Amino acid sequence: MQLPREVVVGEGVIERVPEIFHRLGFTESALIITGSKTEEVAGRTVRAILESEGLKVETLKVETATLRDVRAVEEEIKDLKPQVVLGVGGGTKIDVAKLSSARRKVPFISVPTTASHDGIASPLSSIKGLEKPYSIMAQAPIAIIADTNIITKAPYRLVASGCGDVIAKVTAVRDWKLARDEVGEYYGDYAASLALMSAELVMQNAQKIKPGNVEGLRVLLEALISCGVAMSIAGSSRPCSGSEHLFSHALDVIKPNNTMHGEKCGVGTIMMAHLHGLDWKRIRETLKTVGAPTNAKELGLTEEDVVKALFIAPSIRPERYTILSKLNLSMEECKRLAKQTEVI
Ligand code: ZN
Repeated sequence: MQLPREVVVGEGVIERVPEIFHRLGFTESALIITGSKTEEVAGRTVRAILESEGLKVETLKVETATLRDVRAVEEEIKDLKPQVVLGVGGGTKIDVAKLSSARRKVPFISVPTTASHDGIASPLSSIKGLEKPYSIMAQAPIAIIADTNIITKAPYRLVASGCGDVIAKVTAVRDWKLARDEVGEYYGDYAASLALMSAELVMQNAQKIKPGNVEGLRVLLEALISCGVAMSIAGSSRPCSGSEHLFSHALDVIKPNNTMHGEKCGVGTIMMAHLHGLDWKRIRETLKTVGAPTNAKELGLTEEDVVKALFIAPSIRPERYTILSKLNLSMEECKRLAKQTEVI
């Protein structure tokens, strides 16, 4: 079990980088992975803080998260031999920093500039160009520094998307339980409870999750980080990714780069909750409250896209047993499900 040793969330916590580095024993060198925009938002600040502490710091910019990017960063790590790699940015920068540092056996620190998904704290990386359209094991961050003053500058839509990724745990955990009961899969109560509690807290605090509300953002960040920790405890994405994620991954195949991960997962959760006999209307209401999409139109998808994605979802990752594996829905049944939940 690999867990973060330092987790700081709050206003202005970026200023605490020196003490965190000191406690972790990083006093000589660091490599920052960031993007053009995120460098301005946070990368430059982090670099200045570390340099003022006497560290030798290099910055490498990446704009995508492909295997090529990972290899390029690995080469950089080989040359520079930094004590630690920081991923400063949203999804792609953190994913690339996490996997390349894991491959070179260098610790990784996550400095998220958005709250759009649980990858900011998880041990998994989502990299394009791999055989499978889902995340692979990398390593857990040794520290997570989530400054709400920085994250609040990102468009609100990313926050709403992050809520979708957390609410997804309601059905992900149900699917995990189902896999335990039906196919004897290992099930970890602690990891499952942690993921579920995160979803519950976001649902309870949905009214506070709105543009400009720091308290709501903090609830979401803590939930996303707890989800990341749940995956570290489980040693896989199981507590956080079930049939609703398979629906999202299927859409990634049908319509690549169409919309945000958490938005797709949120809509998937509405439908999978219906299949599980859960209160799907509560899921939909929560998504509406936080301003996340709840139907095909809001996701920029056609009816056919949704039905097809539901239909192919179980084949995306056949070894991941979910309610979709159990029910083996026909195209007609997929359509009925989407209609019943008013997704189409
Ligand atoms: Zn996710």
